[in-house]
Amino acid sequence: MSLWWTLVDHPKFKPCELDQQWDVVIVGGGFSGLWTAHHLNVGNPSLKIAVLEKNQVGTGASGRNGGWASALYPIDDNELRKKFSAEAVHELHQHLKKTIDDISDFITSEKIDCAFHKGGSLIIARNQGQFRRLGSHVEEGYVRLDAGETNKRIRMQGALGSVYTPNCAALNPAALVVGLANSLQSRGVSIFENTAGEIASDNSVSVDGVKVTSDFVVRAIEAYHEGTRDQVPIYSLMIASEPLPSEVLDDIGITNRETFAEASHLVTYAQRTVDGRLAIGGRGAPYTCGSRRNDASEHHRRDHERLRRMAQEWFPVLDKFEFNHSWGGAVGVTRDWAPYVRTTDKYGEMGGYAGDGVAFSFLAASAMADLILGSDSRRIHLPFVQWKNPRWEPEPFRWIGINGAIRLSGLADKEEKRTNRPSRIMKILSLITRQ
Ligand SMILES: Cc1cc2nc3c(=O)[nH]c(=O)nc-3n(C[C@H](O)[C@H](O)[C@H](O)COP(=O)(O)OP(=O)(O)OC[C@H]3O[C@@H](n4cnc5c(N)ncnc54)[C@H](O)[C@@H]3O)c2cc1C
Repeated sequence: MSLWWTLVDHPKFKPCELDQQWDVVIVGGGFSGLWTAHHLNVGNPSLKIAVLEKNQVGTGASGRNGGWASALYPIDDNELRKKFSAEAVHELHQHLKKTIDDISDFITSEKIDCAFHKGGSLIIARNQGQFRRLGSHVEEGYVRLDAGETNKRIRMQGALGSVYTPNCAALNPAALVVGLANSLQSRGVSIFENTAGEIASDNSVSVDGVKVTSDFVVRAIEAYHEGTRDQVPIYSLMIASEPLPSEVLDDIGITNRETFAEASHLVTYAQRTVDGRLAIGGRGAPYTCGSRRNDASEHHRRDHERLRRMAQEWFPVLDKFEFNHSWGGAVGVTRDWAPYVRTTDKYGEMGGYAGDGVAFSFLAASAMADLILGSDSRRIHLPFVQWKNPRWEPEPFRWIGINGAIRLSGLADKEEKRTNRPSRIMKILSLITRQ
């Protein structure tokens, strides 16, 4: 179980019968499904909306992530500008930035206690290879910090400098899921837990073989849409420390609860929680052939151990403290790393956030609601809307390619540490994998 769920009580939802006519049925009770219900309800409070969740709301990635509500997009600006105009990329960033403030406003107005704090975010270089790559970091909204400025915020061992953005908040994601679901229920949205929705090829939904009648169906199950070539589940693992004494926290910094990562090729991410723990995550766990989710991957001992060693390298003082929580989950990744919101007449699907879905799902859901309600907003013209992703390669090529890329990313990090220059391995890999 993630740290977040140990700090939050799960609500009971009012029982209700599915056997009636619905305007919209949403399959999946994570952020995507719940935010879609939220935006639909705000746009038209009279809509009859049902959210079907196979387990409990927030069981998926939404209740077990790193708690970064960021303005990140999985594709960097240079790549985006090859497909979209500079204006379109700028407009996307403006929406991503505003999304964090919209979520903040919602949390304030609904009085949700989820430890939300917008303290910004740093990506920190710890060797010259990382530092030189950060030097060419051209993402909108970031500024460079030298070693001294970085240290004023976070005293990470060996930090040479960083890039910083104010556009990120840290939060307890499970507490936000619960607050959002409670808010929806109080506004008349029906939430069905322990209810798996089967979406047929004609886009109708059935539960236990019985068809549910609705005008529109939304599939919002992200990495749970498994076994297809549309997207793959990639595992991300996390650990969290016990609450650290104040003298240790004084030593480490992070007093504005900035989220932070090392500028490594294998993704890392961390936050200081409101009760003084460090919650740290990273990729690197192997991909399972056939794009199947695999619960064993959430408890990959070697990767949890690797995260613990990394934490102690970042902050040597941590070697005296326990990391008493470890967990993991899958993120949905498309072949071109582009997220998507797509609709046809009576059916919509969303996902492919590649590990950046906490805040992005709010924006994706608002675009989905606009499409369903027929509102001609600027959001429905953003690059991810009606985007058709290429399909992943068939197996076993997919398995070989993805696990090869994960392994090479780890080797590239070692290469940069050893040679103090940007990795050659990575240069070659990005040429091979570019779409
Ligand atoms: C370890 C980890 C760390 C992460 N860290 C961050 C981070 O710090 N910042 C960030 O922005 N993103 C992060 N992410 C990604 C982010 O959590 C996801 O992008 C986001 O939560 C996806 O939300 P979702 O609602 O689309 O999917 P999910 O939260 O996975 O929800 C899908 C839901 O659908 C349900 N479901 C599946 N099949 C069915 C069915 N047939 N019928 C009914 N229900 C069904 C599942 O039980 C699940 O609850 C992280 C992810 C992981 C795993």
